[in-house]
Order: sequence, then C-alpha cells, then structure tokens
Amino acid sequence: MSSLRPAARSSLSQAGHAARPSGRAAARSAAPVAVEQTPLTLRAAGPAEPGPGARARMPAPVTPRAYSCRCGRPVFFNNSECLACHTPLGYDPEQGRLLPLDLVVPEQDGPGAQDDPSAALWREAGAAREAPRFRRCSNLDTAAGCNWLVSDAGPAAADGTALLCRCCRLTRTLPDLTLENSELWWNRIEMAKRRLVSSLIGLKLPVASKGEDPAGGLAFDLLRATPGGMPVVTGHADGVITVDVEEADDAWREQRRAVLMEPYRTLLGHLRHESGHYYWQRLVERSHWLGPWRALFGDERRDYLAALNKYYEQGPAPHWGQRHVSAYASCHPWEDWAETWAHYLHMVDALDTARSFGLDGERVQLDYERFGSDAVAGSGDARAGEFLQLLKSWMELAGVLNELSRSMGLPDFYPFVLSRTAVRKLHLVHRIVSTAGALEARTAACAYTGSAGDPAATAEAAAHVHQY
Ligand SMILES: [Zn+2]
Ligand SMILES: [Zn+2]
Ligand SMILES: [Zn+2]
Repeated sequence: MSSLRPAARSSLSQAGHAARPSGRAAARSAAPVAVEQTPLTLRAAGPAEPGPGARARMPAPVTPRAYSCRCGRPVFFNNSECLACHTPLGYDPEQGRLLPLDLVVPEQDGPGAQDDPSAALWREAGAAREAPRFRRCSNLDTAAGCNWLVSDAGPAAADGTALLCRCCRLTRTLPDLTLENSELWWNRIEMAKRRLVSSLIGLKLPVASKGEDPAGGLAFDLLRATPGGMPVVTGHADGVITVDVEEADDAWREQRRAVLMEPYRTLLGHLRHESGHYYWQRLVERSHWLGPWRALFGDERRDYLAALNKYYEQGPAPHWGQRHVSAYASCHPWEDWAETWAHYLHMVDALDTARSFGLDGERVQLDYERFGSDAVAGSGDARAGEFLQLLKSWMELAGVLNELSRSMGLPDFYPFVLSRTAVRKLHLVHRIVSTAGALEARTAACAYTGSAGDPAATAEAAAHVHQY
C-alpha cells in the first residue's frame, strides 16, 4: 500500500460525489456529504499484491473502478470534482479512467464562451503540454450531470452533438423535462447508462450512436407515458432501446418487482438486459454463432408475442431454475439471452469493481468448487479455464457479499442460483464477448500500428462475428 497522507477529511460517499448538481433534479438529490473518517489513499487501479494464502495472482480489472485524485484521495466514477481539494474530475471512456483535470485554455470564440464549461479545454492534471486535451460533456450542467470527457482530437460533429460524450450521444429522445420528476429520472437513467456504457467500451464491444453508424448504431429513447397517451414499454427494436422513465421511480419499480415476484429489478439491470437484445442482433444473428447459440438457448423463431403472453398469463416454465438464470428468461430464447447477457455484465462489472479495490473471490475465506471443467466440456473453447476461474471468483465473492447484505438486514446482493445449463449459457456469452472484443482490438491495432494482435483470438473472432 502507498503511504497514508496526513489529511483529516476524506469523502467516500458516492452520493456525496454525484456529478456537479444543477437544476431541479439536483435539488432533490442527496446533499453532498463529506464523511469524517480515517484518511485513505488508494493505489492506482490494477491488481493488488497477493495477500497471505492467496492462491493466484488477481487478474487486472477489465474496466477499472478505483481512481485517485491528484491529492491522493480516492474519488469515484460519478465524481465531477474532488470534495477534498476541489480539483475538477472527468471520466475518459477511452482510457477507462477518472482524471483529475487542469484547465488549459478558456476559449475566446464568442460571447459567453467562458461561461460555458463545455467550451473550455482540459488536460490531465500534471500532464505534459502535448498530452491529450479534452472538453467536458455539455451535459455536465444539465440534470444528466455527466462527468465524461470528449477528446479534443475527435472528429468534429457537424450535427451539434460534438460536445456530447460517447454515452450522452446515445440518448436520442428525452421525456418532457418540464414534468415533475422527469429531470430526476433522467439523471438516474443516465447514471446507470454511464456504468453500462463504460463496461461495454472496456469489453471492446462496438459502441456507436445512430448518428455515427445509422445501420448498426445504438440509440436510447427515454419516454414517459402521459395520461390518455400511448403506454410506454421498455424494450429494444433494431438498435433503439426504449426506456420507460418511470422505472427510475424507486417506489414504482419496487412495486413492480414485488408484483412480478422478481428477486432483482434495477435501472442498471434493465439497461444491461436491453443491451443484450441489441448485441444479439450485432454479434449473433447473422454470425456463425447462431448455430451454437440455438443449440443452447433454443429457436428464437418461435412466436415471441405468444411466448410473452403465455409467460404473463401462466407464469414461468416449470423447473426454470434448472435451465435459466431467471424465471423471466424461460419465456423465450431472446429473453433467455438478454437475461444471461445482463447476468454476465453484472458478474464482470462487480468483479472488476472488487478487483480494483484489491478484493476478489481469491481473497475471501469461502471456497466454492461448484463448477469444474466438465461444466463447459464440449464447448470447443480452448480457453474455457479463464471463464471457469471468473465464475469461481464470482461465486465466492457473491457468497460473502450476500452475507454482508444479510448482516445489514438488506436483500441478498446476488439473489440467484446458477444451474449447469445456465453456466453453459454464460460461457457462450463470454466467448461471444471475448471474440467480438478481440476483433475490435484487432481492427484498431491494424489501423494504428499494423500489429496482428492475438492470432488465436482474432481468428476465432473473424470466423464468428458478423460486422455491419
Ligand atoms: Zn483531490
Ligand atoms: Zn455525457
Ligand atoms: Zn427483453
């Protein structure tokens, strides 16, 4: 560990670090809280040294989740300013890092430009003059409270969205923000969406807006039902994810969760699930994965609406727990995939977070050996061991986190039990994500360095992944 600093004040409260508050949404948010506690410094995100008894070196997180300010104090993913030293902070999605920032040059290109935070140029605090420069996302001072950065070297967009970050550019439609709670709900949805999109970028999955890629891009329509108007249903169609913004109302969502007898219902879970439908179209539908996919998930050509109606009228398939990650997953192969995909993203992000802070299943005193190599035998994956290690780490960590939740009287952190068949499905998600990421990395490597990348992974990627 790095040495402790003699500071007396440090804030570890995520709520207290909500991106710079503004507007009515901010007025309803929790007020910043600076928590008095033992000073703490944080190592740069990365694998921790193995502790006594550690059985293996901890893998580095794919998307690091621990960051530190220039003053050495820990800061968090949603922060736009260090509460201790007031250094501005911004998240660079390409590096997957939250950067302390220095102002470079306030732009002088028009009246009011200096009052507009998104017109100013920034670079990482203490970096050399030639280091990359950034602008702040223009949603920083809206209710979205976005702390992401936009590269100053990126292509200038002529459509007026140049100053929106990669995540905000994906949002195509907003609800009527003059209605009560709309800003607050938008804020919550964007916060969950930034978490999702940062993971997708970290996994090197293709992430582009409809403006950048009209055929294969992704858009979010955040809609709010109005009295007498059309109902809004959260779902996905051809790269457009519709979100019923009322899902951001905690009481309403919890009521839905109870009525539907779901053990877990969150905004982030919804967004991960819907992104699964999108990536099915991008990575599976017209690829060589479709055969192995149907062998595990079933034939998606069976009547989708009839399957949904049956699910809501008659409930889940009997013994669904032996084949699916959730009851809802049993209603149709598409939903099975989206649920499994979301589950995989839960696992990867939670493990990334734990590892970023020096914790994973290898460090907890709980030893599960529930699934061995026979669980994924016959998959044809020479690297199945990687997945099994991830799964083992996850189950051990989740086991301890469940006990922690119970110690606080909270619902289980991870209220799921994985069957062997569900594990095989998760493994297929892992392979599809890994090969898609390898292909994206290969494309980037070829474009910028001429490197061939990892031949084994890229060969599998080239064989399986259809690119729009
Ligand atoms: Zn600081
Ligand atoms: Zn943004
Ligand atoms: Zn779905």
